[in-house]
Amino acid sequence: MSTQPIVTRFAPSPTGALHVGGARTALFAWAYARQHGGKFILRIEDTDQKRSSPESTKGILRDMQWLGLNWDEGPNPAADDPYEAQLGEHGPYFQSQRLEIYTQYVDQLIEAGLAYEDDGAIRFKMEKDIAFKDEVFGDINFAASDLEDFVIRKADGFPTYHMAVVVDDALMKVTHVIRGQEHLSNTSKHVALIDALGFERPVYVHLSSIMNPDGSKMSKRDKAKAARQAAKDAKLTSVGFDDDAFAAFLDKKNDEMKFALAIAEQLNLDLPEINVADFRDSGYIPAALLNYLALLGWNPGDDIEQFDLDFLVAKFSFNRIGKSNSKFDRAKLKSFNADTIAKLDAETFSMLLGQHLVAHHPEYTDMVNDRQRFAMLCLAYQPRAHTLDEVADMARFFIIDNSEVVYDTCNKQVRKNLINSDCAGLRALAEFASELEKLEPWTGEDAHNLIKSYCEARELNMGKIAQPLRIAISGSVVTPDMVPTLDIMGKKDTLLRIMRCLDSFRSEMEAVAE
Ligand code: GLU
Repeated sequence: MSTQPIVTRFAPSPTGALHVGGARTALFAWAYARQHGGKFILRIEDTDQKRSSPESTKGILRDMQWLGLNWDEGPNPAADDPYEAQLGEHGPYFQSQRLEIYTQYVDQLIEAGLAYEDDGAIRFKMEKDIAFKDEVFGDINFAASDLEDFVIRKADGFPTYHMAVVVDDALMKVTHVIRGQEHLSNTSKHVALIDALGFERPVYVHLSSIMNPDGSKMSKRDKAKAARQAAKDAKLTSVGFDDDAFAAFLDKKNDEMKFALAIAEQLNLDLPEINVADFRDSGYIPAALLNYLALLGWNPGDDIEQFDLDFLVAKFSFNRIGKSNSKFDRAKLKSFNADTIAKLDAETFSMLLGQHLVAHHPEYTDMVNDRQRFAMLCLAYQPRAHTLDEVADMARFFIIDNSEVVYDTCNKQVRKNLINSDCAGLRALAEFASELEKLEPWTGEDAHNLIKSYCEARELNMGKIAQPLRIAISGSVVTPDMVPTLDIMGKKDTLLRIMRCLDSFRSEMEAVAE
């Protein structure tokens, strides 16, 4: 056993998107193989014909690649048709392409008198007590009297998961089976089959579940839950289609995604991210997501929490995996992501942000292609972005038309910085604007210096000009530093926005003048 190379595998069923729980399983299996210079296999368990789909397979391959969890054997992700082109000598790696192999082993069990036909299906006889060791959960024992014969081949000729997983792990020479805790009890069946077929047992490592902060299991249903709650809060009774089914959705009778998405659209709501693709679309960086996922159920044994994959590969061990479920803390993941973003080199950040904006917010395409301005935008937001997507919201004022900036008289900051004390802010801004107009050539740095000298000469706190200016430019006081903000805005639009701002408060100004 010890001379055998370490082989781990990730064996998703392509019945939906890769979710974070699956990604964590894949990460641990990948890290263990890498640590030992072994092999990591990706096997697609698509024997459930009704629930499996090629789209879901493609999504899983794409998400695994995005995470950077590269596999040594499995579907070839670079090929046009991953079902045809596969990597590795133990394939095919799609269970749907291995049916004759399973048949052969089922027949072997029937011939040995260890399995029998029952209503067209084949059942395996569970006759012995079962004992096995799990690296996380310890010794597990099942008495024969508690175990029932189980189906290994369905009447339609397809193997059950138990049969296929056992045959594949053996033929693919998997040494360590790392998977979710929900399979711990199945393992009694697997061990019995392995023994009956004369295979060698792998090492078992079952990972406890990932929970929401409220203790419920993290699942795709959380999106439906969040949307339903929001719809109820907003008293939304229709989304414009399938009213009866929508009523049933509100009544928790179904969890259909189309309703969750429609509600999110109508109420401008962000649904909780569950799948790896959701996190990608929200602008998470793979390194941050993987770092956070590694800490769900495992820790390196000291106070270090933020690390890269090399560190994980070096430090990973089964004996630091805990038995208790872990809670998914979105705020912590977000802060990991912010730290990861802040540490990226400028070029990488600009590439990632550019790709993200063009893909998800095409209205940014011109900005992204304006290399100089976009470089300044990146510099301004890299230190403050928690996610790439957040930048799309925060920086929006830079790309909208001057006429689209909203000056909200009811906003507290607007009142304080522009209107209060007889429009002191507006009057200061108007006066400063005539100085700013003379500035030539325009750079953010020079404009900023002008604010400084202007305020010093009048013994004003710089905020007395900077805050009204921020509001004139963006509608709010939340902008990056003045220098990059003024650089990105440019002279013409800065002055136009000041004029528009003053204009929109004309009645307030006139009331003071009287
Ligand atoms: N296809 C199974 C699942 O997605 C894999 C379980 C295993 O790793 O054995 O749950």
